[in-house]
Order: sequence, then C-alpha cells, then structure tokens
Amino acid sequence: MKTDRYVKDMFKRLDNIIRGSSPSSSRWDLDFAVAAAEEEEGKTQEELDDIETQQYGEPHRFHIYRAARAKKTAAAVGLTYEDVYDSITQEELDWSLRQQLKVSPEERYQNMKKHWYAHELSYWHQTIYDNGKAVDTIKEYGCGKSTEKNVEGGWCVPECRYYPQTGRIEDSEVIQKHREYEKRYRDNNAIVEPPTTTITSSD
Ligand SMILES: [Zn+2]
Repeated sequence: MKTDRYVKDMFKRLDNIIRGSSPSSSRWDLDFAVAAAEEEEGKTQEELDDIETQQYGEPHRFHIYRAARAKKTAAAVGLTYEDVYDSITQEELDWSLRQQLKVSPEERYQNMKKHWYAHELSYWHQTIYDNGKAVDTIKEYGCGKSTEKNVEGGWCVPECRYYPQTGRIEDSEVIQKHREYEKRYRDNNAIVEPPTTTITSSD
C-alpha cells in the first residue's frame, strides 16, 4: 500500500536524522518529514484514490481486481479479459460515480453533444436487433445524418436533446443512471469482494 511505503521511507529518514548525520539541518528535516507524513496520513482512501486517478487514470489496485476477474476462456490463449466486466467491486462502482460527479453539468452536456453516436436520435440508437441481426429502422432522419453541418447543432436534429449549443446534465441524472447500472450488477449477483490473493500473470 502506498501509505505503508511512504511511512517506511519516513521512518528511514527519521532514523538517519536521529543518528545525527547533519546537526544543523536536522531540526528542519524532522519538521518537514513529520509534516509530509501527517499530510499523507490524514488523507482518506478517497483522497489517495484521487491522487492515483490523476496520475494513472484510476487507482492502481483496480488493475489487480480486473486481472483477478480475468478468466481462462480459451485453453490455448490462457487468460482473457473479455469477462472482466461480468462482475465488479463496490469500490469500482463508487469510484466511477465519484469521477462522473467531478464533471460539471455543462461540461457533461458538451461531452455528450460532441459525439453524435451518443445522441438518442442517432442511428446508433435507432438500430434494433432482430434475431441477432442489426436493422436500421430510420435512415433518412436523425443525429449524424444532417448535411446542414453549418447550422446550430451541426449533425444534430432539432428534436434532439443535444441540439442547443449549451445545456446541462444534472448530478441527479448521473446518479439515477449509475443506480440503474449498479442495479444490473446487483440483480445478477455480480458485485464481488476485492481479491485477497496475489495474482500471477502466468495463471
Ligand atoms: Zn443530436
């Protein structure tokens, strides 16, 4: 764990200071080391997760969680990751919601607006699956089809939620969507505990 490693480093440093290698600077070093350790110590798991997310895109342990969930689905290949999202930990779910809530309502709207395939009136969402075969239901009208790219909304149609230049996706909507997402896992009994054993890539 990150904190443990940090504390060990700090003890090593304190040990050096106490042994008195540099009397003139020892007081300052000691204060500095203690202050830095307190800063790290006082952090909640959430805050430490945020630091790792900023540096690596997610808390490091989630990589280990996913590796633990990978299954041997093809004997010749060994581990595959296709089933990694069949189950999930509560930690990952909570982290994902927190990340989404860090984005402002206006920014969320813009993020959705710039991807036409995310629009509910895009062909992506107008495609239905009939007997496993994709069928385009509407080919003449919808987001991503308009040739009037210079009009407001670009390839968006006026009936679309994302047609206006600006808008908001409120926290309440994000939370509601996340609850539905979480419920699907819960209904499938697929919210699992974090792995306790060390994962080796050879298995
Ligand atoms: Zn649209």
